[in-house]
Amino acid sequence: MRILTYSVMFYMSLALIWWTILLSKNNAELFAVKAAHLDKNKPEYVEAYQSLKVFHDRKAKMILGEGFVFGCMLIIGLYVLQRMFNKELDAAQRQKNFLLSITHELKSPIASVNLITETLQKRELDKEKRHVLLDNILTESKRLEKLINNLLLSAKLQTAYQYNFESTELNDFVGHQIKRFRSLNPNLAIRFDRLGKIFYPIDREAFDSVLVNILENAVKYGGKNPVIDVTLTENEESVIFQCKDSGIGISKEDKVKIFEPFYRIGNEDTRKTKGTGLGLYIAGRIVKAHKGKIEISENLPSGSIFNVILPK
Ligand code: ADP
Repeated sequence: MRILTYSVMFYMSLALIWWTILLSKNNAELFAVKAAHLDKNKPEYVEAYQSLKVFHDRKAKMILGEGFVFGCMLIIGLYVLQRMFNKELDAAQRQKNFLLSITHELKSPIASVNLITETLQKRELDKEKRHVLLDNILTESKRLEKLINNLLLSAKLQTAYQYNFESTELNDFVGHQIKRFRSLNPNLAIRFDRLGKIFYPIDREAFDSVLVNILENAVKYGGKNPVIDVTLTENEESVIFQCKDSGIGISKEDKVKIFEPFYRIGNEDTRKTKGTGLGLYIAGRIVKAHKGKIEISENLPSGSIFNVILPK
C-alpha cells in the first residue's frame, strides 16, 4: 500500500510539474502569436499590447499559483498519509505484542493451576505443603481473573459502558483499597493519611479500577523494596489523588505512550514483570469520563508520581 501510494504521489507530482511547464509555455506562445497579429502602425497598438501583456502575465501567475496550491495539497496529503501509515503500523505492532503477551498471560496461570492440581491429586502431602500449593492456585486464578476483568472492562469502555456517578467520600473509598493492598502485601511500605472528608461524584466500580491499576503499578514497578506514598487533597478547583513510588521511573517520551492500549515500556525492568499494557489505558479512559486527567511527574531521587486530577 505504501509503495503504491508513494508511486501515485510521485506520478502526480511529475504530472503537476509537467502540466505547469506545458501551460506556461502555451501561454507564452499564445501571447507571442497574438502580439504578432497586432498592427504596429495603428495608434492604439501600445495600449492593445499592454493589455494583452497584462492578461497573459495574469494567466502565467494563475498557472503558477494553481501549481503551487496543488503542490502544497500533495505535500499535505503525503504527510497525512505518512502519519496514518505509521499509526496503522504502530497499532498492528501493539496488537501483535498484545497477542503475544495475552497468550502467555492466559496460558501460564492455567498451566500452573493444572500442574499444582495434578501434584495434589497424585501425592500425599502434609497439611503445610498442601496449604502452600492451594495458596498458589488461588494466586494464579486471581491473576487470571484480574486479566479477564481488565480485558472485559476495556472492551466495555470502548463500546457502551454506562457510568453511574454517585457522591462518594473519597478518603474512605481510597482507604478501603489501601487496606486491601496492605492485607495482600503485608511487607509493603504504603502510607496513606486520611485528611478530613472529600465528597466527589464517581462511578465506584470504574474508579476502583483506576486506583487498583495505579497502586498495582507502583508495587510492580516500584523496585526491590517499594515505598509508596498516597495522598488525597483538594483545592478550589480540583480533587487530587496522588500516588508516589520510589521505583524505576518513566521516561519523558513514554509518559504519554503508556496510556495507549497494550503499550508496555520496552525495557528490561518491565519485561521482568507480568502485564498486558491495559491498566493505564483503562485508568486514563475512566478518569477522562470523570472529566479529569492523569499527570505523571518524576519522583526524586527515583520513581514516579501519578496525579489523578478531578475538577470540581
Ligand atoms: P501493565 O502494567 O499491565 O504492563 P499498564 O497499562 O498498567 O500495563 O502500564 C503500562 C506500562 O507503563 C507498563 O508496562 C510499565 O512499563 C509502565 N508503568 C506503569 N506504571 C509505572 C510506574 N509506576 N513506574 C514505572 N513504569 C510504569
